[in-house]
Amino acid sequence: MRVIDQAYIDGKFVAVSGSREIDSINPASEEVIARVRLADRDDARLAIAAAVRAQSLLRETSREDRVEMLMALKSAVLRRTAELQQATIEEYGGPVARSRWVSQYASQCFSDAASILQSYRFTQKIGAATVVMEPVGVSALIAPWNSVTGSVCSKLAFSLAAGCASVIKPSELGAIQTQVLAEALHEAGLPAGVFNILLGNGDDVGDEICRHPHVARISFTGSTATGKSIARTAMETLKRTTLGLTGKSASILLDDADLDVAIPLAISAAFLNNGQACVAGTRLLVANSRVNDVIARIRQHVSTLKTGQPDNPVTDIGPLANRSQYERIQHYIRRGVEQGAVIIAGGEGRPQGLEKGYFVRPTVFANVDNEMDIAREEIFGPVLSVIGYSDDDDAMRIANDSPYGLQAYLFTADTDRALRMARHLQAGSVLINRITPELLAPFGGVKQSGMGREFGVFGLESFLEPKSVVTG
Ligand code: NAD
Repeated sequence: MRVIDQAYIDGKFVAVSGSREIDSINPASEEVIARVRLADRDDARLAIAAAVRAQSLLRETSREDRVEMLMALKSAVLRRTAELQQATIEEYGGPVARSRWVSQYASQCFSDAASILQSYRFTQKIGAATVVMEPVGVSALIAPWNSVTGSVCSKLAFSLAAGCASVIKPSELGAIQTQVLAEALHEAGLPAGVFNILLGNGDDVGDEICRHPHVARISFTGSTATGKSIARTAMETLKRTTLGLTGKSASILLDDADLDVAIPLAISAAFLNNGQACVAGTRLLVANSRVNDVIARIRQHVSTLKTGQPDNPVTDIGPLANRSQYERIQHYIRRGVEQGAVIIAGGEGRPQGLEKGYFVRPTVFANVDNEMDIAREEIFGPVLSVIGYSDDDDAMRIANDSPYGLQAYLFTADTDRALRMARHLQAGSVLINRITPELLAPFGGVKQSGMGREFGVFGLESFLEPKSVVTG
């Protein structure tokens, strides 16, 4: 069993002064695989002080210096791809293909940020002013447990590209993934303090970095409830804050969509990352005239999906990440039935033959009304709701009738029709006949799915602030 009791502060792994301990549990076997000692406020203050010192150095770096740092991080993380993949399988339950993708994406973030940085215009003339884009300053980068390496690396890549030193707080539920990643990042040999990494709870380490006056910027990814609380704290010192939050995305299957292609894609969009994805398309909107056909096809397709051990390459859906996730999904499946939805695949309990581990049955509900809890709240597991609509306007009305607005999916044979509808969909991104995003395009939510954008040039600019210098 591993013991994780250090934080990465000022270029070194140091013992944490915090005394809280938690176990990291393999979600497939329910065995304890690591004992983790969490950092506390004192550790957070040390990390902030180190970042403040590094910030004065980073401010003076050139574009070329930072491109070099980003490429060093890329190589260092790339060398550890296999270990990151293994940690994602073991600690998170990510199936092989998904874990491989996130581990490769982790290193790609740094080259993506480097390519944006190389062509970014930091200075422009506006009238008599020279407008210079400057780094915001020390940044707190806070990540959720469902995307530890991806979230940490993309935030670090764009903060560093902008010239911001950082204090990184991944979820305490991703300790092994964080440890492997921190060791990889350390090997890049960057100046001490440029990035610092601590595992800690939200109510002490998280709160300290959101409150501390020397932190200028917060880049948060997590739930809407936590995001609102962080935004309130951050407002005390007017920290520049971006929030990537909860989703309840709609997939709209238009009446001309080729169902042989669209149904497997729509189900993948719903069950992506074991259903623990902010962008999961968990409300499938289907023209009333096609509902029966679609239900029959969904039943057939879901019966071919393999739920099982995450290290088996044929597995489509692994276990959920922890016991509370397992119980949460059971709760929502019961709630759906209580409120009158009809299960057409899956249901409560574990899949046959999987008596141990946080495995759930991929579940699909039909007869869902958009007012039901399963249609309004983020379930965060492989549970899909099929909702009928009468025409395109009705489909858009239902899709937009949500407090959230992260992503929407449209499946159709008529791209022009989809483009017209995309204009009316309240979502940060709309994907037409595909479920993979464009990684350099801005990513974020409207309404209660977030504030601000990550990735690409928009991600870079979120760590910059314009200064106008006007000469007489
Ligand atoms: P969470 O909000 O519970 O925690 C996220 C992070 O915030 C963790 O590191 C946690 O320790 C920290 N935190 C908690 N309280 C804090 C506080 N008061 N101050 C500072 N930090 C604090 O979310 P989670 O359960 O880890 O993640 C799942 C949620 O994240 C889902 O709602 C999902 O949709 C969302 N998510 C959104 C995106 C996106 O880009 N929109 C991406 C991934 C996940």
